[in-house]
Amino acid sequence: MAALQPLVSHLETQTGQSLNNHRLSTIGGGDINSAYRLQAANIDWFIKLNRASLAEMFVAEAAGLRELADIGAVRVPKVICFGECQQHAYLVLEFIELGALHSRSASLFGEQLALLHQRPQAYFGWHIDNTIGSTPQYNARHDDWVSFWQQQRLGKQLQFAAANGYRGALQSQGGKLLERIGDFFSAYRPHPSLLHGDLWGGNAASDKQGQPIIFDPACYYGDRETDLAMTELFGGFSRDFYAAYQAQYPLDPGYKTRKTLYNLYHILNHLNLFGSGYLNQANSMIAQLLAELN
Ligand code: ADP
Repeated sequence: MAALQPLVSHLETQTGQSLNNHRLSTIGGGDINSAYRLQAANIDWFIKLNRASLAEMFVAEAAGLRELADIGAVRVPKVICFGECQQHAYLVLEFIELGALHSRSASLFGEQLALLHQRPQAYFGWHIDNTIGSTPQYNARHDDWVSFWQQQRLGKQLQFAAANGYRGALQSQGGKLLERIGDFFSAYRPHPSLLHGDLWGGNAASDKQGQPIIFDPACYYGDRETDLAMTELFGGFSRDFYAAYQAQYPLDPGYKTRKTLYNLYHILNHLNLFGSGYLNQANSMIAQLLAELN
C-alpha cells in the first residue's frame, strides 16, 4: 500500500478533499484492474488502477458511467475523478456496499433496464471507442445496425482472432455469417439504445437499500437485445428480472435467434482474451446461426 501514497497525495490535490488519516484496503473480484477502497472523514471511494498506458480505458468508463447517470434509469457509481499519476492510470468512483440482486431488486432492475433501453438515441456507435474486457471496442457511427454489427463487432473480433492464429473454419464460416447478417433482420428494425455493453452477472448488484446498481460498462448505442443476450450468457439473472423487463418493454420473437448472433461477439472476445478453450463454442454458434438461414 505504501506504493499508493503518491496517488493519495495526487487525489488530495485533484479533488481538494482532505485524505488525512485515510484507510486503504484491497478489493478483489475484478478481471482487468486492481481495485482499492479509500476511506477518510466523509470520504468513501472505490479506486481502479492499471498501467498509465491504459488511461483511455478509464476515460471511456467514466464517460459511460456519466451518460448512464444522466439518463438516471439505473443507479451507477458516481465518478469522482480519473487520470494518470506516475506509472498508474486511475478511476475513482463513489464506493457502494454491494449485495446480490434478490427477487425484488432483480425485478426492479428488469424494469429500470427496460426504461434505459426505451430512451431512443440518435445513431449506432458512440462518440468514443472503448474496451470490452481489455479488447478494443470500436464505436464508429453507423446509421444502419446491420453494418454496425458486421463491421464494428463481429468483423473486428474475427480479425483479432485471425491475428491470434485462429484461421481455417472459424474464418471461412465466420465470413459466410458476416455476409448474411442482414437476413436476421428481415422483420426487425432495432432503434439505438444506450447499452451497458458488458452486462454479465458480475457487473450488476444491489445496494443496501435494494436499489439495483450497474457498473464496469462498455457503453455504446445499439440494439437493446445485445444487453439482454449477455445476461443469459454467463447466468446470474433471475426470472423476476426477465419478467419485469418483458412487462415494461416486450421483446421481439426473433430475439431467441439473434441472441446467439449477439453472444457470438462475447465468445469471440473470450477466445481472443483467454484462448482456444472458446474455439469449439464459437464454431458451433456460427454453425447454428448458418443453419438457421438454410
Ligand atoms: P474490473 O474492471 O477489473 O472487472 P470492476 O469494475 O468489475 O473491475 O470491479 C471489481 C469488483 O469491485 C466488482 O466485482 C465489484 O464487486 C466491486 N465494485 C465495483 N464497483 C464498485 C463500487 N463503486 N463500490 C464498491 N465496490 C465496487
